[in-house]
Amino acid sequence: MISLEFINYSSNLKNLICGADTEVPIIDGRYVRGINFDNAATTPAFQSVLNEVMNFTPFYSSIHRGMGYKSQLSSNLYEQSRLIIGNFVNADLYHKTVIFVKNTTDAINKLSNSLLTEFKDGVILSTHMEHHSNDLPWRGKYKVDYVTVDQEGNLSLEDLEKKLIQHKGEVKLVTVTGASNVTGIINPIYKIATLAHKYNAKILVDGAQLVPHARVDMKPVNSPEHIDYLVFSSHKMYSPFGVGVLIGWKDTFENGSPDYVGGGTVEIVTEDYVRWNEAPFRQEAGTPNIIGVVALVSAIRTLNGVGLEGVHEYEKKLTNYAQTNIKSLPDVTLYGHQEFKDNRVAIVPFNIEGIHNDVLAKILSYEAGISVRSGCFCAHPYVQKLLKITDEEIVNHINNGYTNRPGMVRLSFGLYNTIEEIDFLTETLYKIIKNKAHYISKYST
Ligand code: PMP
Repeated sequence: MISLEFINYSSNLKNLICGADTEVPIIDGRYVRGINFDNAATTPAFQSVLNEVMNFTPFYSSIHRGMGYKSQLSSNLYEQSRLIIGNFVNADLYHKTVIFVKNTTDAINKLSNSLLTEFKDGVILSTHMEHHSNDLPWRGKYKVDYVTVDQEGNLSLEDLEKKLIQHKGEVKLVTVTGASNVTGIINPIYKIATLAHKYNAKILVDGAQLVPHARVDMKPVNSPEHIDYLVFSSHKMYSPFGVGVLIGWKDTFENGSPDYVGGGTVEIVTEDYVRWNEAPFRQEAGTPNIIGVVALVSAIRTLNGVGLEGVHEYEKKLTNYAQTNIKSLPDVTLYGHQEFKDNRVAIVPFNIEGIHNDVLAKILSYEAGISVRSGCFCAHPYVQKLLKITDEEIVNHINNGYTNRPGMVRLSFGLYNTIEEIDFLTETLYKIIKNKAHYISKYST
């Protein structure tokens, strides 16, 4: 039973979003209000973020070293933002630094480069549920091993500890997603941190899917539960304009030469001598993205204003409701948790028997104006396991011209999605399932 309070909550939050009412064309020539269930890829912008950018723009100027009033103002805002963002995730800014990059992928690549001197001969322990952005940056540079997942896609903590023991102190970093972009499963990051620290390893949490949807606390550095490194992307937090955040130990980013060099990274340069700046400056080559940072801080203020704890609870209710509805439809296979569990962000992956995932996504868009994602979501090894597809089947599939790629359809909700939208999706799916042959012949070419 959905309460009135719940419905009011969602309709109020829709007002926060720019474009929540935008109409999109569908195949019969009509325009309908688009429904966005692809928030795990990118969220729409908060109106407050756009307002803040417009308010700031008359003062927009160069960052660092400018003596003009606007330049000093912009530089101060930029530096203060590190504090606001650090506080948002309770980072200890005496020991840690906040580095601005482009996105989560950029942040993990930078961390991987920055740890090379310290961890060169060590093992990096990743997992089978990672996005490619938290897998590929480690390959080739380090010895990488992977913690396994069970049939539902849960990470095995037993396997994690087994591998930490097996590698006899060689594991330098456990790198794990905070929440999966495929199943929405939230990992027990504090238990993982405690285990990693027990075996003298550090932990990186890929917060791309967790930070926008639940409160993340990096915890004090003397706590065994503390998170050594955290990364996330502003474009998944209702804040476009291209900023990513990398938070971690200052020392890590003051070793050796920075991965990108140029203006801003140095204190002194002569013809044959370079003295690098301290972190975070030596890690931010070139002119910083002040508009992106202003936008991210504004998004954080709005999220704090709404209350991330409430957002998390609301989105869990949406997810539970969607999962229950979809499960009741014929011919549906759900992936991940079969029964709704609490450790979950707002993602529901599924397939309908007989309709290819890309085709279903196309039908939903063309027939009903509903946006979802299909495919493997940049997490091929994880999806392959959830679909129970062997390596051989993948190879055959590639050899056969890579048509009909295996995959799933993914619903991912934001704080502004509603029960009515999920009801409409369910009705549309039911119609598609009842008239499968018609829709397949219309959309399969
Ligand atoms: N990790 C996870 C879990 C993600 O979902 C994503 C984005 N889909 C990324 C990393 C990469 O984020 P970005 O594209 O912002 O670099």
